[in-house]
Amino acid sequence: AKRSGKDTIVSWSAGMSLAELEDEELRSALRTAVEDRRVRLAFQPIVELTTGRLSGLEALARWRHEGRDVPPDVFIPLAERAGLMGALTADLLEAACTRLAGWSAGRDELLTVHVNVAPSQLVAPGFVTTVADLVRRHGLRRGALVLEITESGIFADLDAAQTAVVELRRLGVGVSLDDFGVGYSSLAQLNAMPLDSVKIDRSFLARVDSDPRQARFLHAVLRLAEEIGLPVVAEGVERPAQLHLLRALGCQHAQGYLLGRPVEADAVPPLLDGIAVP
Ligand code: C2E
Ligand code: CA
Ligand code: CA
Ligand code: CA
Repeated sequence: AKRSGKDTIVSWSAGMSLAELEDEELRSALRTAVEDRRVRLAFQPIVELTTGRLSGLEALARWRHEGRDVPPDVFIPLAERAGLMGALTADLLEAACTRLAGWSAGRDELLTVHVNVAPSQLVAPGFVTTVADLVRRHGLRRGALVLEITESGIFADLDAAQTAVVELRRLGVGVSLDDFGVGYSSLAQLNAMPLDSVKIDRSFLARVDSDPRQARFLHAVLRLAEEIGLPVVAEGVERPAQLHLLRALGCQHAQGYLLGRPVEADAVPPLLDGIAVP
């Protein structure tokens, strides 16, 4: 047996590969971190392009383990496999709503906080009730809390997801389709889901300033969203040329390193007055 984390014993059994052992160690450390509520949130600005107004913040999970940040692309799937998503989601939602209520106090304009919710959680028993309780306890305004759900997630169990989305909207909680355009949804399915907005995946923006075909594609995706009446947030804006194109195409909201990197909660208040858009 090998010690790992605070007080967790990971047992090594014959036939286990090194990779499996490492995965097992990381999983056990993550379990301890979730129990101790040490997975934290960073917040990245979502900016209204014409005004520089901060329209919202996306909450992104952060886990520091043995002096390093483990990427969420690694620990979120690990949490899923370890059965930790329910506890982690509840914890992060609570933290996000506490911050949201604090930042919104005394502010006239609506501030939104977007929280990523794994597919398994959206349709988990009790999820909508948990969210209803959060909204009530924190006195959140309608539309202030937005849940981001990936396409793959929403369409895995369409009926259950649709029911959850309808109930969430009734509570005044927004639902945004994350990674829009990456590939799972048919337009018919999209049409059936009462969404509040879509987030265009950053892969659509990656080469728009160098490849005219990519720019036309982005244009088409933006037009489609506009036609069906869905506000768009464009993700992954890193260069001024991408920003200028988005503006020219009439995109209203964007997010990306050029506009602001994810920051810890204590660094958010100065952003609330708006962002200087390049
Ligand atoms: P996502 O929801 O698509 O989040 C956007 C990711 O793009 C974030 O990565 C963000 O830091 C990064 N990003 C933002 N602007 C830029 C940019 O200009 N350029 C580039 N290259 N990247 C940019 P992050 O924080 O590493 O998160 C990765 C993914 O992990 C997220 O993708 C989301 O799917 C998942 N995730 C993060 N936090 C949570 C969470 O609390 N719950 C769940 N279920 N998933 C989460
Ligand atoms: Ca997201
Ligand atoms: Ca995304
Ligand atoms: Ca993504």
